[in-house]
Amino acid sequence: MKTIGLIGGMSWESTAVYYRLLNETIRDTCGGLASAKVLMHSLDFSEVVTLQKADRWDAAGEMLGTAGAGLVSAGADCLLICTNTMHLVADHVARMGRVPLIDIIDETALALKTAGKSRPLLLATRYTMEHGFYTTQMQRHGIDVLVPEAEDRQRVHNVIFDEICQGQINESSRAEYKRIVAEAKARGADSVILGCTEISLLVDPNDLTLPGFDSTRIHAAAAVQFALSAPETAEAA
Ligand code: GLU
Repeated sequence: MKTIGLIGGMSWESTAVYYRLLNETIRDTCGGLASAKVLMHSLDFSEVVTLQKADRWDAAGEMLGTAGAGLVSAGADCLLICTNTMHLVADHVARMGRVPLIDIIDETALALKTAGKSRPLLLATRYTMEHGFYTTQMQRHGIDVLVPEAEDRQRVHNVIFDEICQGQINESSRAEYKRIVAEAKARGADSVILGCTEISLLVDPNDLTLPGFDSTRIHAAAAVQFALSAPETAEAA
């Protein structure tokens, strides 16, 4: 089994979900006492948010890249950036890491395509919804992403940072997210991407008026597939 390297802490609420999903999936696949081989570098999210707010993506890329390179030195065979937003610096992290970076955007696109969906609503941070990196990468897969109207984008963003990332789950915010999904259906969306790794803590992807694609679950599943399918390293000999 290969070792999965997690660049996490963005926020730790969702990194904890990754850890559980990786281990549950390995247990369910391999049986018995099997568990995932995981190395994690959990960052201080407040430092990352400071750089996001200051638009200092180069510095953020360096911070995550350094974390990733450290994980690779410690034995990680692949890297996951446990947040959609920070895939804005994925190329830099991949260059510094020199092992496969399992990309959350590519994996989500693959899941949508497999399900025959091509016009998803994206629920995510404003960085992910507005910066262009996410929608452009999706377009390369033939997927035409729809985002909420400006006011709702701000609302979705605020709920992520002010509530879910701080461990707060509010029924009124859940209702707002559901309303936004229902409105997107009327605008022609055929599915919804939970494109922020915390959103599944607030809404159940199976409890929406459109088929839900949870980026956290999709990303973790791809990591397990890599860990189990890739050729063994020296330890197997
Ligand atoms: N975890 C969130 C995401 O998937 C947001 C946190 C961040 O800004 O990195 O985008």
